[in-house]
Amino acid sequence: MRKTMTVLSAAILLTGIGVQSTSAFGRSKYDMQFADYPVYNGNDLELKVGNDSTHFRLWSPKAQEVILHLYESGRNGSPFKSIPMSFHPDNGTWTADEEGKLYGKFYTFQVKHDGKWLAETPGVWAKAVGANGKRAAIIDFANTDPEGWTDDKGPEVDHFTDVIIYEMHHRDFSMSPTSGIANKGKFLALTEKGTSSPDGEKTGIDHLKELGITHVHILPSYDYNSVDETNLQDNTYNWGYDPQNYNAPEGSYSTNPSDPAVRIREMKEMVKALHDAGIGVIMDVVYNHTAENDGSNFELTAPGYYHRHWDDGSYSDASGCGNETASDLQQMRDYIINSVKYWADEYHIDGFRFDLMAIHDIETMNQVAAELKKINPSIFVYGEGWTAGDSPLPADQRALKENVARMTDIAVFSDDLRDAVKGHYSNAEDRGFATGKPGNEETVKIGIVAATPHPQVDYSKGNNSKFAYASSPEMIVNYVSCHDDLTLTDKLRKSMPDVSDKERMAAAKLAQTIVFTSQGTPFMFAGEEIFRDKKGVHNSYKSPDSINAIDWHLKALNRDQMDYYKGLIALRKAHPAFRMTNAEDIARHLVFDKIDSEKTPNLISYTLKDHANGDSWKEIKVIFNGSDKAKVVKLPKGTWTAVVKDGSIDTEEGLGSFSGNLTVEPVSATILYRQ
Ligand code: CA
Repeated sequence: MRKTMTVLSAAILLTGIGVQSTSAFGRSKYDMQFADYPVYNGNDLELKVGNDSTHFRLWSPKAQEVILHLYESGRNGSPFKSIPMSFHPDNGTWTADEEGKLYGKFYTFQVKHDGKWLAETPGVWAKAVGANGKRAAIIDFANTDPEGWTDDKGPEVDHFTDVIIYEMHHRDFSMSPTSGIANKGKFLALTEKGTSSPDGEKTGIDHLKELGITHVHILPSYDYNSVDETNLQDNTYNWGYDPQNYNAPEGSYSTNPSDPAVRIREMKEMVKALHDAGIGVIMDVVYNHTAENDGSNFELTAPGYYHRHWDDGSYSDASGCGNETASDLQQMRDYIINSVKYWADEYHIDGFRFDLMAIHDIETMNQVAAELKKINPSIFVYGEGWTAGDSPLPADQRALKENVARMTDIAVFSDDLRDAVKGHYSNAEDRGFATGKPGNEETVKIGIVAATPHPQVDYSKGNNSKFAYASSPEMIVNYVSCHDDLTLTDKLRKSMPDVSDKERMAAAKLAQTIVFTSQGTPFMFAGEEIFRDKKGVHNSYKSPDSINAIDWHLKALNRDQMDYYKGLIALRKAHPAFRMTNAEDIARHLVFDKIDSEKTPNLISYTLKDHANGDSWKEIKVIFNGSDKAKVVKLPKGTWTAVVKDGSIDTEEGLGSFSGNLTVEPVSATILYRQ
């Protein structure tokens, strides 16, 4: 997420070195007041519908009074009843009970704090909401399950390096008329089979199956703040990094935001359809900040507690969006853990991508992964191992990329490979290894070995990180682009202004070959397989569909690109050598050729030896030439069969036999094997 942040210094992004004083506990003097709040972790927080009554329980230890308001409508009218709640000082909660199951009704809480009545809030645990999420809804969840839901299950994952992630936004994927999809921009778009572009190319879920990815990673799909759900004809676009209700789906992705059950049922139908297609669903979660400060549900529920502050009581802002949350406080830590558990249980979610994960503390993230594993060991947790500003939380407690070895079953994005392959993310004109800029070879190698210790990688030459921060390849997600910053296509157009798209597509192929053959987990941004662009807009978080929607005409136009990506994915799936599961195997089986990058820049070649990770191929030779000149690479003795060469992939028939000196074309990847 990079919604509002400006370019920050590399020092803050990478190490997050604090500039303001914090206490020994990692909390500001101001935040020390919250450390001794009583906490409550029961599963009846806020709403529980019993057999003949409805129970409410709000956690707000310092409230002076709390009123529960009951409504007939999700948005309009006055409460039909307002009930003062009773306080339980031992656990800081307020309760009220009403006779009967109040299905179909709505509610809010109102807290009196420091002598003032705050605005009403649906609380922090609303699992169903009215349009625009201002009132919580009481519904029967049994009625939200699609047919066959009890038996629904996502794909089983043995190792996270087997996962192939496809990051998409609901509107990007289906809004264009060329998608041929009826439920454009909706959860239901991903339930439609048999859709096609005007040129007859598969779109929607059929496209995902054709491509071969294993998991979709959907941009924020909980209820966010920026899109008016009562005015959908305006077609407002937003990425959704402005959380409002963390435990209910976003209304604008449903066909009827005013009916609280519809968004829930439709999101489940989406999950079910993807699971039926063998595809897992990963949710982008943004517990690190809230859309509003004083107006957020956290503040209106338990003022001060859930956010971090500086000593003077001002909001600290490691998110770059105005505030940051306090995972190091028990009630917030439990909140994050219970929230992801809820999505895993109720919606069968297969993974979580933590936005600005380093705002959270290491202990919280470890507990998140451990608790999720109990529900489903295939759940994959990864995140952005950085912050977007300074935080009162000390750097050694942050879930930073550099601290990933202290986390269990959690992966981080490798900005090392990303920037080294295509050029720096924030400098549009900057080039990288795949686009002819020398000096990035060692950093690309860091990506190839998934930032694990390797005798032939000199980490002191790394552009971003100077040490082997991962102790296992399962800790690394490799990518060259995502929703943030320029798409790969736009980056190539801006950094290679004088060449044709054909040449840029060759660079894109090389860049993604590096991603898909590297150790770790590969990640791609939706539409790159058909060379989609965003008209050069680098921060399209609220740009219209005309910028963000994928034009599916590109699939027929760039069919060769699509076939290449498809081939890369098939190659990776068929060959475990590219998916080793521990650092020792990588150090033993992956051997780089000695190339003096001063004399021969932009050339990397390595061998995967001795049936690495049980591969059927005895030896695999991988050669990346990012220079604009052909290069000669001496093959070890024997006859080698090429499967990737000059922009083509053929793992079945092969692309010819080679021995001795092999000439590799400019800006190309070559992969050969021998038995
Ligand atoms: Ca919303």
